[in-house]
Amino acid sequence: MVRSLTRRLRFTFVRFLFLTCAFWTATSLSAQNNISPKWEELTAPDFRQAIQQAKGTCLLPFGILEKHGQHLPLGTDLLNVRYASLQATSQEYAVVFPEYYFGQIFEAKHEPGTIAYSMELQLRLLQETTDEMARNGCKKIIIVNGHGGNEHLLPYFAQGQLDKPHDYAVYVLDGERSRPGGPAKKSSGIDYHAGENESSNTMVSHPDLVHLDRAKNESGTDMKRLNLPEELYTGIWWYARFPNHYSGDGSVATKELGEWNMKGWIDSIVECIRAVKADDASLKLQNEFYEKSKHPLETQP
Ligand SMILES: [Zn+2]
Repeated sequence: MVRSLTRRLRFTFVRFLFLTCAFWTATSLSAQNNISPKWEELTAPDFRQAIQQAKGTCLLPFGILEKHGQHLPLGTDLLNVRYASLQATSQEYAVVFPEYYFGQIFEAKHEPGTIAYSMELQLRLLQETTDEMARNGCKKIIIVNGHGGNEHLLPYFAQGQLDKPHDYAVYVLDGERSRPGGPAKKSSGIDYHAGENESSNTMVSHPDLVHLDRAKNESGTDMKRLNLPEELYTGIWWYARFPNHYSGDGSVATKELGEWNMKGWIDSIVECIRAVKADDASLKLQNEFYEKSKHPLETQP
């Protein structure tokens, strides 16, 4: 009787321990799952946990401040890239750096609201930002580009990381590209900037900031004012073609198209976060390269 009571008590105690542990594990897991991806919202202790949970993988969503026709906000690229990035981190966790909009946008300096920092500052600020992110544990940084004008800047920046040794890797994911399939587009022709695609995307990310009724207030058609061979580049090409800093027709935008585009963008960010977390080759090869670049004559032919 006493022995069986002892056994029962022991059994109850073990069950109590088991349940308590299960509760603690569940609580700590759910706390982990609920941790904000936003750098600026984390407490210092939570930040340490967030970097661990992200396996040192951080996103730097890169936007810009520039005119978007007469119907979309100046920060459209920033708002959309942050929307897509944050949605992606709810599927695959990563720490997301705060608002960043210090990119290449000289071609819109003639329009109100454009913030165009010098070339030197763009590169220096980006380098110091990624250096500081890495010092805080972001050893794998994915720059998620939301702005077409950065398409040359960002690969150049990533390439520049080979100049001097860094203990982190920079990856660049280019912006949303319309994929085949999905709802039929209503406009035909070029749709580069604030047109049907981008207006549709903004109807998903920030519907309250879209003013479709103003989209026809000016023209987004290609003015074709330069006549040069296609392979010959000159900086004024954009202004020559789209002097209103508007390309396409935003008036026919729909939420359905925006949802299709955004889903594709979010999926590609999720896929890249997973690939980067699993990537243990880039950093290793970088280190090997830095080491060899100190004594190139010893490198075997
Ligand atoms: Zn844009």
